[in-house]
Amino acid sequence: MSQGPTARSPFERVRDRYENSEKKCPDCGYIGEDGEWKSETDGRVIVYQYRCSSCNATRRHVFNLER
Ligand SMILES: [Zn+2]
Repeated sequence: MSQGPTARSPFERVRDRYENSEKKCPDCGYIGEDGEWKSETDGRVIVYQYRCSSCNATRRHVFNLER
């Protein structure tokens, strides 16, 4: 796969969306300013996982990139 330097993939849009929101843990209410979404993709789906740095609860989102 090749992309120009200015190309915005669905992957990047999703990442931006989640990195700019949903940082508040639904379990303990901790807002993880330093929290990190970990992402994996196989080209067809993106799996995002977020681990709360306060209580270690994990959240997971799966995005299907196929249409
Ligand atoms: Zn938490």
